[in-house]
This record gives sequence, structure tokens and C-alpha cells, in this order.
Amino acid sequence: MPKKISTVSLQLARRLDVPVLLHTGNFSVCHAGRFAEMIDANTDLSFVLAHGRPVDEVIRILKKSGNAFVDTAFMPEADIWKLIGEGLHGKILFGTDAPINEIFYPGTSTTDYIKERVEMLRAACGSSAAEILARTIYRYP
Ligand SMILES: [Zn+2]
Repeated sequence: MPKKISTVSLQLARRLDVPVLLHTGNFSVCHAGRFAEMIDANTDLSFVLAHGRPVDEVIRILKKSGNAFVDTAFMPEADIWKLIGEGLHGKILFGTDAPINEIFYPGTSTTDYIKERVEMLRAACGSSAAEILARTIYRYP
């Protein structure tokens, strides 16, 4: 992320008292680990690692940084299981990236997509699902 853009974004998040949502992915330019230094240098802000990719880097950041969280948008069920298995259910937020689903799943309405994601989360997380569903990017800890 260019330094000037990230500096302005962090200042704005600080002023508005909102978390910073960082979209992670499986391409090296957007690996979660690239954001670790910025997360640790700004402990007064909360950061959400959208998609949680790659999950092993996310696990390392979540365990180290109290101000880091992950959301479940487009996250494979196996990765959610891995986060739960690491005892990190308290750092997971429910996310959907809606309505971007309309691009990836054009035959599925956004309503149905979100219902499917909720059901998947309930199946994956059992008793932790309600707690996770109560936390979204709009209602973070
Ligand atoms: Zn995204």
C-alpha cells in the first residue's frame, strides 16, 4: 500500500473512530502479513483483515496483535474451522463483502447469499456462531 494513501486512511479512521478494513488475498501483494507492521504501529486503531488470507499469516497476526480482527467474507469454511481451532473465535467478525457476490455468483440473490453464509457459519462454528454473527464490521468490539 503506498505510504501516502495509508497515512491518510489511518488519520481518517482515527478521526472518525472507525476500524480500518484491509482486504487480504492469496496474491503476495495483498497477503495479510504485509499489514502486520502497520497494525502494530497503530495500536490505537482496530484493523479487520477481510477474507483472512492466507489464514496462517492471519492466525499469527491475530495472536500477536490485540487490535487485529478477521472477517469471514469469502472465507472458506476450512479456514473458519482453523481459526476456531486456534481459539480465535473472539477475533472473528461476520463479513460478506455484499453485494460483490453478485459478480461471483450471478445466479444467487444477495439475500440468499447472506443466508447461505450465515448457515455455513452456524455449521462451522456451532455455539460460537451467535457471538461471531453479533460482531460485524459495523459493530466491532
Ligand atoms: Zn475484499
